[in-house]
Amino acid sequence: MSKSKKKPAPPAPPPLPLVDTHTHLQEDGYVGDLEETIARAADAGVGTMFVVGIDRPTSEAAVSLAEAHDALFAVVGVQPNYAHQTAPDDRDRITELAAHPRVVAVGETGLDHYWDYAPHDLQEEWFRWHLGLSADCGKPFVVHCREAEADTVRVMREFAGTRADGLPPGVMHSFAGDADTARQCLELGMHLSFSGMVTYKKNDALLAVAAECPADRLLVETDCPYLVPTPQRGRVKRNEPAFVAYTLTKIAEARGLPAAELAETSTTNARQLFGLPG
Ligand SMILES: [Zn+2]
Repeated sequence: MSKSKKKPAPPAPPPLPLVDTHTHLQEDGYVGDLEETIARAADAGVGTMFVVGIDRPTSEAAVSLAEAHDALFAVVGVQPNYAHQTAPDDRDRITELAAHPRVVAVGETGLDHYWDYAPHDLQEEWFRWHLGLSADCGKPFVVHCREAEADTVRVMREFAGTRADGLPPGVMHSFAGDADTARQCLELGMHLSFSGMVTYKKNDALLAVAAECPADRLLVETDCPYLVPTPQRGRVKRNEPAFVAYTLTKIAEARGLPAAELAETSTTNARQLFGLPG
């Protein structure tokens, strides 16, 4: 970690307002300064942020924030690590929330074999349920996948095989898999969303995946308050949407493109995938 007190220079503002496709701005850490956080994002060229639920209360909070702020949209669902802590009527409530006009996607769902809090079969059952909800409500799904790449791809493939219209559109959030997993997800029609992880040292393989990702499938996110990108990492504890430009700039460099060009690409992708206004 750098001992330097010097503030890193912010990347140049993008031509189109960036979309941070994955935040948890409803978490307690933002209660005291949410307005300032959104204002700093706007100053850094981030015009739109998705607030993603991990269970029923955080999904409800995401919708409330999206109702109160033009820059925020909500994503509602139960993250796999919380699948065992749900109540019987949570599915009805999430289904109801998914129909809300400020909700742009279903999730985060998926599989997590790293923390292993919830039994694998229960995680998988909830994952399938979210895929069904995504198909039914016509909004994309957001996948959390940690050390469960093969099973995640299998569940999506199996689901696609059971439906005449295949797999609904979706995104692998904070993609951290290898090139082969990326290829399989892309074949399924998925978008890949890259987080600050691509800015970390010793993450060359992941950066290479971001460099090779087809331009029309690439998205960026912070996953804040987690995964602070370099050069803010070590300087601040809490990530925030204003920092998504560091990730974008790193990927643009790896692709040999001006950051402004990749900004336009990723924002256009987000607008199309999630049906955003503008
Ligand atoms: Zn998340």
